[in-house]
Amino acid sequence: MKVMELKLLTRGVVFFLLAAAVRAQVNPEMCRYPLGMTGGQIQDEDISASSRWSESTAARFGRLDFDNGDGDGAWCPDIMSEPDGLKEYLQVDLRSLHFVTLVGTQGRHADGMGNEFAQRYMIKYSRDGSKWVDWSDRKGRQVIEGNRNAYDVVLKDLEPPIIARFVRFMPVTDHSMIVCMRVELYGCEWLDGLTSYSIPDGHQMIYRGLDVYFNDSVYDGALAERLTKGLGQLTDGTWGLDDFLHSHIYSMWPGYDYVGWNNKSFTKGYVEMIFEFDRVRNFTSMKVHCNNLFSRGVRMFRQASCYFRSGPDWEADPVTFRPTVDRVSQIARFVTVPLGDRTASGIKCRFHFSDLWMLFSEVAFQSGSAVYNTSLTPRKHGHPTNTLPGEDPTHKLDDSNTRILIGCLVAIIAILLTIIVIILWRPGGPKSFDASRRILDDELTARLAIQTQAFSSHHSSLSTEDGSTSNSTYERIFPLCADYQEPSRLIRKLPEFAQSMEHLGGSDGAPHYAEADIISLQESSDSRSPSITAVNMNLFAGTDSSMKEFPRDKLTFKEKLGEGQFGEVHLCEAEGMQDFLGEDLSLEGNNESLLLVAVKTLREDANKNARNDFLKEIRIMSRLRDPNIVRLLAVCVDTDPLCMITEYMENGDLNQFLCDLRLKEATEEDKAEQEEKEGESMVSYSKLIGMAVQIASGMKYLSSLNFVHRDLATRNCLVGKNYTIKIADFGMSRNLYRGDYYRIQGRAVLPIRWMSWESILLGKFTMASDVWAFGVTLWEILTLCKEQPYSQLSDEQVIENTGEFFRDQGKQVYLPKPPCCPERVYTDLMLSCWRRNAKQRPSFQEMHTQLMESLA
Ligand code: AMP
Repeated sequence: MKVMELKLLTRGVVFFLLAAAVRAQVNPEMCRYPLGMTGGQIQDEDISASSRWSESTAARFGRLDFDNGDGDGAWCPDIMSEPDGLKEYLQVDLRSLHFVTLVGTQGRHADGMGNEFAQRYMIKYSRDGSKWVDWSDRKGRQVIEGNRNAYDVVLKDLEPPIIARFVRFMPVTDHSMIVCMRVELYGCEWLDGLTSYSIPDGHQMIYRGLDVYFNDSVYDGALAERLTKGLGQLTDGTWGLDDFLHSHIYSMWPGYDYVGWNNKSFTKGYVEMIFEFDRVRNFTSMKVHCNNLFSRGVRMFRQASCYFRSGPDWEADPVTFRPTVDRVSQIARFVTVPLGDRTASGIKCRFHFSDLWMLFSEVAFQSGSAVYNTSLTPRKHGHPTNTLPGEDPTHKLDDSNTRILIGCLVAIIAILLTIIVIILWRPGGPKSFDASRRILDDELTARLAIQTQAFSSHHSSLSTEDGSTSNSTYERIFPLCADYQEPSRLIRKLPEFAQSMEHLGGSDGAPHYAEADIISLQESSDSRSPSITAVNMNLFAGTDSSMKEFPRDKLTFKEKLGEGQFGEVHLCEAEGMQDFLGEDLSLEGNNESLLLVAVKTLREDANKNARNDFLKEIRIMSRLRDPNIVRLLAVCVDTDPLCMITEYMENGDLNQFLCDLRLKEATEEDKAEQEEKEGESMVSYSKLIGMAVQIASGMKYLSSLNFVHRDLATRNCLVGKNYTIKIADFGMSRNLYRGDYYRIQGRAVLPIRWMSWESILLGKFTMASDVWAFGVTLWEILTLCKEQPYSQLSDEQVIENTGEFFRDQGKQVYLPKPPCCPERVYTDLMLSCWRRNAKQRPSFQEMHTQLMESLA
């Protein structure tokens, strides 16, 4: 098995080397440099959008893998008003024509506070800013599958690539969805300067009963008998094979790679093509890739006569070139036509038949040193100062052997590293967690090694201390595999146990784990559900905070309810809240004009980060409306201190609430009267399950929005009247429960006892990791929060146990069955939440149903 893998890999390397070495013309496989969204070469003013949700989600924040904390972490359009959302776009002006081979998209992660992304999108492009073309793949599909979570970068090859100056990303979504995007374009500058070609439409050949189509199937201009004002297959960087019936591209029709014509249709014996350029250039040569399968009546041209035009008229004296028509080799080849340094902005060439058929797959122009040694349209800034224009690696003619060699070497090293990891990783490997952690680290590092050669540019280009961009900005994305799903970044390794472990000592300055870039966010998340759905559209309308400002003087302080990360939480009376909201809240204990509310205040000395987090929590909460989610009613953010006003939950948090209760025995449960009497200190099993049902219901709602809570636990649920439970704390950790969090080297604060193995080891937070946390929360509920999960284990041992979950050799320790928990609920439900394979864990929908059934 391993030998087979090695052979395959070796074959892959050889193929890659060949591919790299053979190509020396327009080469989409080499032309894959990030064009500057991440690296900053594209200026803010060149990034625009149809609309924006708020100033902090303006177009300039739509840079992939870039979040300097200024904005809210992505471009987010205003509410999608069109049914398919196609009105909205993020536009990048590349300032000159570029050959774009690859695009990357990412959602709004914003250190864990964002969860909006475009699951699908389309691309429009333009060379002149006025004529726009909808990109479609070789099979005519326009919609590109985008992101499945807010953080992973998803790269998509543009097949065919586009030649454009302006590119628009257009999220495709239901109008009720909020999407946010960060993007990058990959490619190189299009130095040919060719803006369009005009050719007669290709013909159809019948070869032994087989239909062979030689049309220009990706032409992006006007289609008629003659194709005009566009570019297509002749500039897509794909060269035809010797046998025109076959194609480089999988599952395309015979003849796909070529545009071809039958001599019989041309009375004058030649095909006339007109090439238009961006400006007057000094042309040295033209290269035409021709098929020469003369055994089937196809041959390269026998003569090319090219006319030139700098102004309105064609000059009289053409350049004529007669290549030696190869009557021996049937290999397809590039034929170079010298153009004698003629100056022109338009070239008209007549290619004369030498056989029945003439098939071309590519045409390229070289316009002399005047073009390649001067910067055609230099970007305003951002190019490394030590990069000569002629050396700009984003230039299209990337035929430097050194680059090819370096590229190959990096690819080989990456592949070798992978092989080493495969060989090293054996199921019966080292037993101790330290060892397994090392292996995991190595594995992640190796995976990263493959990625870094492709993606390191994103980070390194930003990190130079003098603020200049480094050459690594231009590191290419190597086309090593078909699907470029970025396994993302390994920013920090696992916590180092050897180092002394501090416990969380006060919340000041201690970032919540969601903000800490801990380790690789590997693979795309399991997304069972669609993207964020705006539940209450008018909550979003236009404004940034999306919540109405409540007059502060209408709040009357009653008592302090507690203290959280941001400051104190007060019970207040809100005068006229119902009128303010225009709703009848019909809450017990509230009269018409006075409503009891909880007011969370940001402490006065809060730093900028805390302030941002506070505002972000407002934004998150303002989007949520469910009976089992604590509702944000209004805000006071016009002046300091910032306040959020939420519904008041009389019984505080669920952990404290349950901790003070005792479980009613089954026999006692029958006595309804007793239940009433002792209701304050005792609780029945069915009531506990009722609470779990409500949490599952709230989580079901969140998962329907693809919202990952990341910190589900009883401490983060609040209890109202009649055992009403609502989920709260969207991204906050609390002083009171600091023991539940594990602090990694002063950076990350992690509720490790509630976290899935993949969240701890891979930094991966998904619906399925929320399901894991739900299992622990259910365990807490059924033990009435009398002890912390894994209370007999230290934090280090909990992490060690996580390693066992990862290895899955039966050595992992599960939380025990709570005494009151029926066997079926434990095995079918609780344990299923902690399955190693995230995909095998139940959904909240399923658990909700299961819990309801267990109540019946
Ligand atoms: P937090 O800042 O959300 O961590 O809350 C701090 C404390 O305030 C907790 O101990 C809660 O018991 C209490 N608290 C927060 N929100 C509410 C609410 N809506 N109703 C009642 N008590 C609350």
